[in-house]
Amino acid sequence: MSTLLESYAAGRWFRAADEGEPLLDAATGEEVARISSRGLDVAAMVRYAKETGGPAVRSLTFHERAALLKELAKHLLERKEELYALSVRTGATSRDTAIDVDGGIGTLFSYSSKGVRELPNDTVYLDGGLERLGKGGTFAGQHIYTSRPGVAVQINAFNFPVWGMLEKLAPAFLAGLPTIVKPASQTAYLAERAVRLIIDSGILPEGSLQLLAGSAGGLLDELTVQDSVAFTGSAHTAGILRRHPNVLDGGVVLGVEADSLNCSILGPDVRADDPEFDLFIKGVVTEMTVKAGQKCTAIRRVLVPSSMAAQVEEALAARLAKVTVGDPRNPDVRMGALAGLAQREEVRKAVEALRASADVVFGDPAGGPLLDGDATRGAFMTPLVLRARPGATEPHDVEPFGPVSTVLTYDGLDEAVALAARGRGSLVASVATHDPEVARSVVLGLAPWHGRVLVLDRDDAKESTGHGSPLPTLVHGGPGRAGGGEELGGIRGVLHHMQRTAVQASPDLLTAVTGRWTTGAARRESDVHPFRKSLAELRIGDTIASEPRTVTPADIEHFAEFTGDTFYAHTDPEAAARNPLFGGIVAHGYLVVSLAAGLFVDPAPGPVLANFGVDSLRFLTPVKAGDSIAVTLTVKQITPRRSADYGEVRWDAVVTNQEGQPVATYDVLTLVAKTWDGDRS
Ligand code: NDP
Repeated sequence: MSTLLESYAAGRWFRAADEGEPLLDAATGEEVARISSRGLDVAAMVRYAKETGGPAVRSLTFHERAALLKELAKHLLERKEELYALSVRTGATSRDTAIDVDGGIGTLFSYSSKGVRELPNDTVYLDGGLERLGKGGTFAGQHIYTSRPGVAVQINAFNFPVWGMLEKLAPAFLAGLPTIVKPASQTAYLAERAVRLIIDSGILPEGSLQLLAGSAGGLLDELTVQDSVAFTGSAHTAGILRRHPNVLDGGVVLGVEADSLNCSILGPDVRADDPEFDLFIKGVVTEMTVKAGQKCTAIRRVLVPSSMAAQVEEALAARLAKVTVGDPRNPDVRMGALAGLAQREEVRKAVEALRASADVVFGDPAGGPLLDGDATRGAFMTPLVLRARPGATEPHDVEPFGPVSTVLTYDGLDEAVALAARGRGSLVASVATHDPEVARSVVLGLAPWHGRVLVLDRDDAKESTGHGSPLPTLVHGGPGRAGGGEELGGIRGVLHHMQRTAVQASPDLLTAVTGRWTTGAARRESDVHPFRKSLAELRIGDTIASEPRTVTPADIEHFAEFTGDTFYAHTDPEAAARNPLFGGIVAHGYLVVSLAAGLFVDPAPGPVLANFGVDSLRFLTPVKAGDSIAVTLTVKQITPRRSADYGEVRWDAVVTNQEGQPVATYDVLTLVAKTWDGDRS
């Protein structure tokens, strides 16, 4: 008998007392492993996540969590062959496995680097700017995101056992949440191996990842108001979860990614000899055959102008005829097996349903030829293309989760968009067009119904990641039938797991709460210029207030000549006088900013290493010759970089004129050494 998969629960590997259910190799029908969660104490898992995992993750800053994700990604990358060897048993070719395994590891890398670049080295994230709430400037509001003291449960589909887990783990971990993974039983042996690699590495804090192998049992019964469930799978199961009392009334947040009848549209501008025609055909064939069409993002509906239908079908048939189907261990096989015989039965039933209003135009519903493999033991299925009859409804309702697509014809863009919308909300749509007007009207028509839209043409084709690839930096999810959930999307995916709170307080206390200097809070001036202080010595609120400097006509003329910026408002008195905003010559905004730098810098070599930019620069009041400007520079935020001898310092800069009016406001971004031994004087 093969191995019984274990769950990783409350700090140890748990083995059920019964024999478990067999899990079969998708291509050979041999038993790979057994699965059971009988006797598993799910309540203890939830407690352990909250009492051990959560506090451990939340004690780390975003940057520390990001660093662990990177270490984990490297660890898995070095051991990915182990995962490849098991993945073949799910029916996956090595191309399919790359999407699952390498795609999952890539997501960890991506979140790690985004975490460092876009989140502070802190445990609180500021959302938007300061809202002034009182005229005197003593009362202000700031939105913040904090970690929830709950657990992130993920319930995953069978098709991406590794990616599906890691793409949910990475943002939840960055958000400070422990995770309990419940993989789909069918392919749980691969998810279990990946979890074992992670647990054995000891990289993630104990309790931050647990595995439930087998049926979910009463897991949802144990969840409460700070917990969340991210589900991927069938609309049927999503419905059961949505009706769970803890979701309905108990405050458990449920995110769903379920059935999606994604479409790809051939633009009305595209002729058979245009590059976009080929790109369109290739896209459809790729989506039908990668993972044998078992992808939540696969193209189920192929929307083409009526006049192009015959040519599209012919081109699809020509390409699909070359797709070799069989045991994925054979390197000549391009398309492997479905996840199991039961799954194939589901797809066959879906095809039968589709045939009520569509005819098969390519492939054999009873099964075409295999390169190798036995179709009675392995869940093989050859690709099928159907053509919808006029008024067909089934292609907009039935999701064949396999290598099956239906061609639908349209006349005019409005009809194309209307047909796409009949999917009642999908994860992704694509359109092949090189016409800017078609691109705009189709994308704007599709957008309310889709989480992602790909516009494919000759210019982006080479670099395009394709219709079916969710990317860590882009939103994955879709409205309506697709579940209404949203995952990934860079830092958006992290914030989904966190609580946003509006904090109202005085500037000093807001500074204390957020760790970021707030306009109106106390400034600290001292004899030591802040540019002479290393990161270790600098404090939030350290300030330098400069002496004033008068801006002369010569300054403005010189700047215009020197830079070549001879825009009339700086050089032509008569024209400038007619300008309704200025009424005369004004100094260049960049001159003001440059003079301000001259006013605040301390020039000698010191701990300030570089200026790497400015944020939020606004010119508020025009500066005229004779005006006198001064600048106040205040340390706003200090972010040490983990793997460098320096860190980032964000300075609040306010330039004012002789009347105290703000002339320019911005943040100056510098790199400052962590320590500095040089002379302070
Ligand atoms: P299911 O909805 O049956 O299963 C998905 C996950 O939910 C599995 O981990 C499953 O566990 C779990 N689950 C099932 N019942 C419950 C329950 N009552 N409480 C808690 N968890 C539960 O979907 P499948 O993965 O089997 O796929 C079936 C169909 O779903 C596909 O044919 C396809 O149509 C669609 N699908 C859609 C996807 C999408 O993103 N659009 C992705 C994958 C599938 P277990 O495996 O142990 O039963």
